[in-house]
Amino acid sequence: MTSYTQDTIIAPATLPGTGAISIIRISGPDAFPIADAILQLKSGKLADAKGYTAHYGTVTGRDGALLDEVVATVFRAPHSYTGEDSVEISCHASAYILGELTRLLVEAGARMAGPGEFTQRAFINGRMDLAQAEAVADVISSTTAASHRIAMNQLRGGVSRELATLRSELLEMTSLLELELDFSEEEVEFADRKALLALLDKVASHIQSLTDSYRLGNAIKNGVPVAIAGPANAGKSTLLNALLGEDRAIVSDIAGTTRDTIEETLNLGGILFRFIDTAGIRESSDTVEKLGIARTFRKISEAEIVLVLLDGSESESVLLNNLREICQQVDSASQKVLLLLNKQDKRATTGDNIFVSIINKIVSSIDVEKDLFYISAKSGEGLEKLKERLIELEKGLIPNADSTFITNQRHYEALSTAARYLAEVRTSLLRGTPGDLVAEPLRMTISELGRITGEGLITPDEILGHIFAHHCIGK
Ligand code: GDP
Repeated sequence: MTSYTQDTIIAPATLPGTGAISIIRISGPDAFPIADAILQLKSGKLADAKGYTAHYGTVTGRDGALLDEVVATVFRAPHSYTGEDSVEISCHASAYILGELTRLLVEAGARMAGPGEFTQRAFINGRMDLAQAEAVADVISSTTAASHRIAMNQLRGGVSRELATLRSELLEMTSLLELELDFSEEEVEFADRKALLALLDKVASHIQSLTDSYRLGNAIKNGVPVAIAGPANAGKSTLLNALLGEDRAIVSDIAGTTRDTIEETLNLGGILFRFIDTAGIRESSDTVEKLGIARTFRKISEAEIVLVLLDGSESESVLLNNLREICQQVDSASQKVLLLLNKQDKRATTGDNIFVSIINKIVSSIDVEKDLFYISAKSGEGLEKLKERLIELEKGLIPNADSTFITNQRHYEALSTAARYLAEVRTSLLRGTPGDLVAEPLRMTISELGRITGEGLITPDEILGHIFAHHCIGK
């Protein structure tokens, strides 16, 4: 562990060229002497400066000329992001200046940081637990109010607090069990198995509510999956482009153009939607297209919302056939289905389909008043109403500031494994298995939960390496 903190690391913390100012971060035991080696400050040396102070100065380039005017901010251990002595140098956001500053700092004895190494140090130095460290990446990549709120809650220790509660309940269970073990040596029956079972059920349902939140949390973070399904040439690609306001999907008159699925996210009313343009559903002998159609079926079944798009200028018998075909792929009990009749610009009148009365027989979940849309992907007619309905369907996705959602797959897997161990504990208890055999899965439950925040059985090289590899350099 010491190897992480023996040296001093540097990296740009901002992207070059995207703003007026860039920041280079320096962290480690020699942060101050290394920064002092390249800075000429009016206020003297950073080594003598107090924490949380900012110092104006200049940097001379390797050619002896002025490289830049900068401001250096001092953070003294342990009151810094990493918990180490740190300096942040604000310079002008020129790729050249950043490159030269980095080179000068490396020559002065610093090492270029690896991906996520600053956050990794923050974890190792106890500034945050693993779940919080992972939230740093989520906060940075959040694009909507909802995903930002969830990530911020996790960064502020929301997930960690839930786990601490679970952990203390499980430890209480362990001590109840140990009590039983003590008694069993004297061949006395376990006194209060009921209390143990009640506690176990409480913990199990708490874990369950967290794993349940993953589906929702994931939808908030990565976008609510909305599949656009329909026969070839119904206008699926045109609709996707119209929703996004750009030409992302290929539009053509040749049936089967969208052979693969195309996914694009769009922020509507603070909720992220992930629209999936699928291959047209039709009989095909083309192998590549068949694969596309198979993928389409999978995408449709995984979607939260299915936009069934039909060419509204077709005859009713064609429309009904198309609708029947698509609805075989939809589970209207668990998925929200909206029916869109496209190409209204080609029709003389709108909304005169007598087939509306039989739609409900095919898709029982459709509320004809709210979920049937007459649109034109080409002219944009009806799209605002469609967007409003999408927001209305998912507005429950905007979480309260203090609600905790699981959005991280690693956390979800650990919680699911913990739930399996806990189920083993329950079975053993009901069977009257000796306490020491019950204790083992209980220990495993605790250690699985500990993995999420990085307590207990953690191997820095294996697990940390994997987690922090997803961070970018400078974070
Ligand atoms: P896809 O196969 O379902 O993705 O269909 P496309 O989006 O490629 O569209 C097929 C054809 O229908 C193209 O020629 C589009 O220009 C046309 N189209 C799509 N939407 C509309 C619409 O609302 N009105 C009219 N008149 N044509 C449309």
